[in-house]
Amino acid sequence: MAEKTTLIERPPVIAIMGHVDHGKSTLLDYIRKTNIVEGEAGGITQRISAYEVMHKGADGKEHAITFLDTPGHEAFTAIRSRGAKVADIAILVVSAEDGVKPQTIEAHKIIVAAGIPFIVAINKIDKEGADIDKTKVSLAEAGVYVEGFGGDISFVPISAKTGQGVSDLLDMVLLQAELEALQGDRSVPAEGIIIEANLDKRKGISATIIIKNGTLKTGQFVLADTAIVPVRMVENFLGKPIKEATFSNPIRLIGWSELPKVGTSIFSVSSKKEADQLILDRKNGKAPLKNTPVKETDEAVIPIVLKANEAGGLEALEHEIKKVKNDRVRIKIISSGVGDITENDVKLASGRENTIVLGFNLKVDAQAKSLAEKTGVVIQTFDIIYKLSEWLENAINERTPRMNVEEATGTAKVIRLFSKTKDKQVLGGKVEKGVIMLNAEVKILRRDFEVGRGRVRELQHLKNKATEVPEGKEFGALVESKIEIAPGDRLEAFNVVQK
Ligand code: GDP
Repeated sequence: MAEKTTLIERPPVIAIMGHVDHGKSTLLDYIRKTNIVEGEAGGITQRISAYEVMHKGADGKEHAITFLDTPGHEAFTAIRSRGAKVADIAILVVSAEDGVKPQTIEAHKIIVAAGIPFIVAINKIDKEGADIDKTKVSLAEAGVYVEGFGGDISFVPISAKTGQGVSDLLDMVLLQAELEALQGDRSVPAEGIIIEANLDKRKGISATIIIKNGTLKTGQFVLADTAIVPVRMVENFLGKPIKEATFSNPIRLIGWSELPKVGTSIFSVSSKKEADQLILDRKNGKAPLKNTPVKETDEAVIPIVLKANEAGGLEALEHEIKKVKNDRVRIKIISSGVGDITENDVKLASGRENTIVLGFNLKVDAQAKSLAEKTGVVIQTFDIIYKLSEWLENAINERTPRMNVEEATGTAKVIRLFSKTKDKQVLGGKVEKGVIMLNAEVKILRRDFEVGRGRVRELQHLKNKATEVPEGKEFGALVESKIEIAPGDRLEAFNVVQK
């Protein structure tokens, strides 16, 4: 897609931390009330634990800021422990009445460990007992040196209750964000972090994501480890449906295949096929960690060092070799040259795993042979082109990684639901295609989208126990699933087969 970089400024994501009762929630409430764009706030309640506000910066322009509205440090720590960096800047709230307390110190440690900058908000300055200077001293004693007190950490005296100083605090946040030069690229697939996930027995699994880069659009699929969700509807933090979302937007996606873990990184892909394959790879331990294009991660490459006795032969060989491939393995000529196979060719090959040295109409010198034996590099020579092609085809087949593929064995429509106890549901249905087997794993499809999975624990046909029920027949089944199955849903039984 976009070849040149299309980096633009990205709004900062802020975490508010500090000791209990020092005013984190009050501050979050105040900012939410006063800064959420008018018209949007009225009537709609924030449904997820993050929100976006607009604030006019020193440049006179309105800038977006995202706040994580998470209770205490738990969520932040959970996210941190998974190595994800969700917040760009932290605000450390300290009460001017109490000064530094144990959780202030703890919060400071977490912020330092996260490697993000922070601003100190000295809160409750409206209170009679407030003492800003004393608070600064207690901060210095805890190793937090604010400006004018032996350090350069910015601080802002505020009252989260009256709002005094809060605008200055937001100015400071924007200033800090500018220093951080936070950037994002809208043209790439979305990447982000799960900040909360819930299981709702009726609606299925929902999760809140903070997008950290790229754009998420309806029609795409989002992956978090082995959990997947089709992006049918994106809800913004006010619960309003939006068509697309981009960096620093907090959004909610409903209909995950399994409960994603808080702190997991997510990314979007454009097709179900791509998503399914990535999940299978992950389940097989071949987990692509980043949002690399599927082609690169999916395809195995066999590197080749190619030698021939003369230039004309080399060209013909290259041409032939390009034809040898299958959809999972590709041959890559990493070097080609004229002359016998020497020690150098073997050295080159030994530097890359699984590299093969191929020669045509030539000799292999003695040093090359002995080094190949030591390093385990495979050398093959041929004097007929088609033999070389044949050999390569075999080599490719041998090296094709086996894939686990889910193959549907049957689908059934759920007609009625008889009973439900914890995780176990007794239902009646009709097999529409293929067969439904006892103990089969099933996908639960609602309007063609997978809302969850389950397993057939008991199966009956004509009131008798059955091990399988064929197409066209009705059956009763006990299905184990965390998802509440409803009449009209489809059960798709599948097998995982190696291909
Ligand atoms: P949290 O535990 O850090 O989220 O603290 P809260 O926001 O719940 O605040 C604890 C108590 O302090 C509440 O009763 C707030 O009303 C009060 N409070 C918070 N900020 C201020 C402030 O700036 N001034 C005054 N007077 N009270 C505050």
